[in-house]
Amino acid sequence: MNVTGWSKGLEVTGGGEGVVSHAGLVLLRGLADKTGLTAGLSRALASNRLLVHDRGRVAVDLACVIADGAEVISGFRILADQPQAHGLVASVPTAWRALSEIAAGGPRMQARITRAVNAARRRAWAAIEARHGAIPGVRVADKMIEGVICIRLDASVVACHSEKEGAEPNFKGFGLHPLLGYCDNTTEALAGMLRPGSAGSNTTTDHLTVLDTAITAVPARHRRRLMVTCDGAGASHGLIERLDELAARPGHQLVYSVGWELGERERRALHRVPAQAWQIAVDGRGQARERRIDGACPDRRCAHARCWRQEAHVAELTGLLREGPDGDQLAGWPAGMRLFARRERPHPGAQLSLFEEADGWRYSLWVTNLPTTVRGWRGQLAYIDAAHRVHARVEDAIRTGKDCGIGKFPSHSLALNAAWMTLSLTAATLLAWLRLLALDGDLARAEPKTLRYRILHAAARLARSARRRRLKIAATWPWAGAIATAWTKIAALPHAP
Ligand SMILES: [Zn+2]
Repeated sequence: MNVTGWSKGLEVTGGGEGVVSHAGLVLLRGLADKTGLTAGLSRALASNRLLVHDRGRVAVDLACVIADGAEVISGFRILADQPQAHGLVASVPTAWRALSEIAAGGPRMQARITRAVNAARRRAWAAIEARHGAIPGVRVADKMIEGVICIRLDASVVACHSEKEGAEPNFKGFGLHPLLGYCDNTTEALAGMLRPGSAGSNTTTDHLTVLDTAITAVPARHRRRLMVTCDGAGASHGLIERLDELAARPGHQLVYSVGWELGERERRALHRVPAQAWQIAVDGRGQARERRIDGACPDRRCAHARCWRQEAHVAELTGLLREGPDGDQLAGWPAGMRLFARRERPHPGAQLSLFEEADGWRYSLWVTNLPTTVRGWRGQLAYIDAAHRVHARVEDAIRTGKDCGIGKFPSHSLALNAAWMTLSLTAATLLAWLRLLALDGDLARAEPKTLRYRILHAAARLARSARRRRLKIAATWPWAGAIATAWTKIAALPHAP
């Protein structure tokens, strides 16, 4: 067998005409234009100077190339080098200048950009509702919470290997420490704050700022029923008080679920939980978290208690702490705040505290203001636990976000990197809109890497006739139809005013 025969008679030459790579980028650019993002940023970034390249266009194009996988500003060339498909696009130095101008504009410039993105989001969400009937719900185990928008706050360390302003040692290594807010329903990035590496995980003022920015990012019509989740023992007095205030506004509903530290008083309470008060937790399919023991009977679906080992339990500690022998241990915290504990069998090799080692379980605690009067599945212990546990989905958003601009920062300057982060979060948002407004099936759930390979990086031929240009995706490309359909859907969106 001739294993090298593939190259027989193959010539490689230049001179190909009408060839376009990364053809799927037109979808993101079209989406930014149709939602009014481009025009909004153009107004937000307008200056009195006479500029060849509109700064809003440059900012949108930067977000598009970040979504496309650019990790450095020179990645901008993918647009600039293909004017036949994208028209006259700024050069790499101009992209740098635009980013520096955003950085130099400070918080006021940042606020103008945020307003432009939020205005585009209002139109995008209206289009999502028009297409799907509603904004997607919040999945909790096997159930769905409809009509509620869920904001997830989380801090994450971004490792830096070169000298960068603000890159400092922290509990996870060396780098920057952004605090981010994501919308669980749509996977959009709603808010982000780029902080030095030494910034605390639970710094109250940062959480309050990101929370407020994230809520403002949600279109006003959708702000009346919110969920807010935060983990990593994030419950500071200031954050809980703010959430409590927001929840108390007439006509508004806000249910929070925030991680809580396991301290001495919580340990004492855990010792006093009666065995029967622990209820079995459910897994992602809503089934009891239990496992067959070694030496169980041959019937794998038997109902013998001795054949199963329960893996995780939930109990409420509120009563024990509020009304225990030592008096109200939660005095000073809002009256409606409830404290819960989950205990799990530790994985072999898991890091356990002395307490957990002695006890044989590993504990996680959190607080919520879910009223005790809530009926149905949402009020059940197992689902109160499941609703907190799905906070972990934010880790997927951050992981894919790190593959979309926030995993690698281009500059030494913290301000410039903050501007890059803003555009990176916009990139993640454009990808979310693309999935929800123009894609179907697997593609509507695909992560950035998959979308790049199948959609954004597709090759095409640009054909010109009398007055039209036609971008023809390679006939053999398995997703050619999906790309063409997506363009039709984007073209059919109403024009932003
Ligand atoms: Zn059995």
